[in-house]
Amino acid sequence: TKFSDLVSNRSGIIKPLCDACDQLKFKHPTEIQKESIPWALEGKDIIGLAQTGSGKTAAFALPILQKLWDNPQALFACVMAPTRELAYQISETFESLGALIGVKSAVIVGGMDMMSQAITLSKRPHIIVCTPGRLQDHLENTKGFSLRNLKYLVMDEADRLLDMDFGPKIDQILKVIPRERNTFLFSATMTTKVQKLQRASLNNPVKVEV
Ligand code: AMP
Repeated sequence: TKFSDLVSNRSGIIKPLCDACDQLKFKHPTEIQKESIPWALEGKDIIGLAQTGSGKTAAFALPILQKLWDNPQALFACVMAPTRELAYQISETFESLGALIGVKSAVIVGGMDMMSQAITLSKRPHIIVCTPGRLQDHLENTKGFSLRNLKYLVMDEADRLLDMDFGPKIDQILKVIPRERNTFLFSATMTTKVQKLQRASLNNPVKVEV
């Protein structure tokens, strides 16, 4: 399988994204990518059970970048991650996979200055990668910032997000983002809490397990 073979109806992954995969030496899609990307391109919500190292980041980043290419807009996707380090890694993946289509991604995590993050947000990046507490803080306190046009929400390492008690923040965020969006939830384990979050946030999802 090549990335360009990951077909949904007609179109596989577009050339600038395949070229970026080549540059990163991604020769063939991993299992989670093969299973998720066609559904994501068809507009399905996804619950993915996958470990770190499976290639899960590109499994959600590639279809989001492709949809962004089809319909470019600021604040297109928001990814929530449990830790700052993971947020930086995810943002780097978006920027390297999206390098040939000019994607701007911003990291919004705790421990950094709110004001400089507010300036970053005012520049209207395509993708924001955040920890839930800090995102919620900006949604409440940063004038002019909202996610009312958001098209994609990703919750990565959902089991860890919930173990770290981000559940209430996530619930608050879910209240102020559009219902008409796609949602991808990735988790290493399926716990009762993850199931509850799945019911609260995904619409008729496809379950992908590797
Ligand atoms: P992840 O599970 O998203 O943290 O990815 C684990 C590692 O696999 C990262 O270093 C990626 O750059 C790499 N990777 C992701 N997809 C592929 C692929 N299709 N081929 C080779 N390496 C990949």
